[in-house]
Amino acid sequence: MPELAEVEYFRRQWDSGFGSLVIAVASHPKMRVFRGTDVAALQKALTGARLLGSEGHGKQMLFRFSGGASLGIHLGMSGRLRAEATGMSPGKHDHLMLLQEQRSLVYCDPRMFGRLRLAVGNGVPEWWRNLPPTVISPAFTRTLLAEQLMRRRRSPVKAALLDQDLFPGVGNWMADEIMWQIKMHPATRAGDLNVLQQHDLWRVSRRICRTALKTIGVDWSEPPKNWLIHRHWQKRGRCPRDGTLLDHGTIAGRTTVWCPVCQKGAAQPG
Ligand SMILES: [Zn+2]
Repeated sequence: MPELAEVEYFRRQWDSGFGSLVIAVASHPKMRVFRGTDVAALQKALTGARLLGSEGHGKQMLFRFSGGASLGIHLGMSGRLRAEATGMSPGKHDHLMLLQEQRSLVYCDPRMFGRLRLAVGNGVPEWWRNLPPTVISPAFTRTLLAEQLMRRRRSPVKAALLDQDLFPGVGNWMADEIMWQIKMHPATRAGDLNVLQQHDLWRVSRRICRTALKTIGVDWSEPPKNWLIHRHWQKRGRCPRDGTLLDHGTIAGRTTVWCPVCQKGAAQPG
């Protein structure tokens, strides 16, 4: 599933279309990705409009067009954006194509858990207002994190990390990476962290988000070699720190990977 940095990478795939007119819009209007969206209105609003720019927020994206239209995109499990040369015929999973003179901007989503929506009229769309601060923003303070951990004090820290209202854009691999880098068992309760551990969580989660955005988010390049991500999906992966065979289990409803040696700290209380 695309997380913060993967979403950022896909958002940039449409950068080449900035400043250009959308000549026509092609879509598979009955597909689930358009649930709740009037596809005819979307086609009407975007045809003849110029793509002005885009913004990302966690796992969400906003594309702005002249005339006041905004297209919101959430990639869900398997959504992808790409730009193609003109004249390509859409594939089975290419549910939206914005045709420009020099290229086609394509939204592809085989599993269709993603979502496309439209807002018209100037001003910030209702679904883009009041978003929580991103992890790398100045508004994501230590105090905010401490308060939010206390509100989730009985949940595992891993669940707090997956909560899009607290760590927008953080998904399964990033949550495991953060827990591994702070050397904490992922089932540790959010309310059990002392001030130093809270500070570590704050500092390391920001660093991991920033580094992921600078690598994967720019050109899909590899994050640092010593990160857990490279072992995360291996069947018999070993801890990059001490070579121990990694443990797997379900925490916060998700498959979780951790090192039984360096992430001993504060496991599930009885
Ligand atoms: Zn280890």
